[in-house]
This record gives sequence, C-alpha cells and structure tokens, in this order.
Amino acid sequence: MAIRNVRLEGDPILQKTSKEVKEITPKIRTLIDDMLETMYEKEGVGLAAPQVGVLKRVVVIDVGDGPLVMINPRIVRREGTQTGDEGCLSVPGKAGQVTRPNEVTVRFMDEDEEYYELDGTELLARAICHECDHLDGKLYVDLVEGELRDVVMEDEEE
Ligand code: ZN
Repeated sequence: MAIRNVRLEGDPILQKTSKEVKEITPKIRTLIDDMLETMYEKEGVGLAAPQVGVLKRVVVIDVGDGPLVMINPRIVRREGTQTGDEGCLSVPGKAGQVTRPNEVTVRFMDEDEEYYELDGTELLARAICHECDHLDGKLYVDLVEGELRDVVMEDEEE
C-alpha cells in the first residue's frame, strides 16, 4: 500500500468525468488499498479516485463505522434534506454549508464484482453524495451556501 498525492482544487482532473470499472483487476485492488490508506492518513471521511489522479468510478468512505468501498456507485433514491458543514481533502483548510439529501440509497459494485444497495442517512448520505459528485467532476465548493470558511486542519472532514 502507498499514500497517494491528493489533487487540489484547480487541478483539471477534478473536473473530469470518471469511467465505469468493468472488472476488478489487480491494479484496481491496489488503487482501492492506496485510497483507503490515503484517506486514513489525511483523516478524511471519504475519497474518490479522481482525487488521486485516477479517472475511475471508485470511492472509499469511512464515517466511523469502518471502511466502505464503492465501485460504480449510483444514487437511486434521495429523501429529505440536511444542511451542514462539508469539507474536502482537495480543498484543504476550508469548510462550507451544503444542503444534501438526508437519506440516500446507493447501488454499487464491491471488490468481488457483486452489486449491492446500501441505505445511508445523515453523515453517510452526505459523504455518498459528496464522493459521487467527484466522479462527475463536481466539487462541493460550487454548492456552498454563503462563504467558504477557513478551518484548522484537525477539523477537516472529507
Ligand atoms: Zn471531496
């Protein structure tokens, strides 16, 4: 495993659309392992492959309940709204208020090429939406209501 460089806002790769993963190759497994290691090292709650410079539809999330790996994730249900602080490892030292669905159902492939659906609420729903946006080249900063704030590094969330 290795820690990968996290691309920062302004890097054109963060605005590109990622490609579907057709099969789980050893390269994809290494990518997933590295993404998990990078997310934990940077103390984020989620990371999407384009953030480490790979345009594949792979995200990792851990909101405190253990690691989730989602390949080709697609949100198939959205309910309610929540407004709260969001941050991003690609926009270090900043946070801002974003409104997201309070509940989502996401369909994704796991590392054994099996498809699952998972329900997420609150922080997990927010993380799923945030990471899926990265796969379509979108950053949360475009959704922020009001101003982006400076935060100390220890408070960084994603
Ligand atoms: Zn992010």
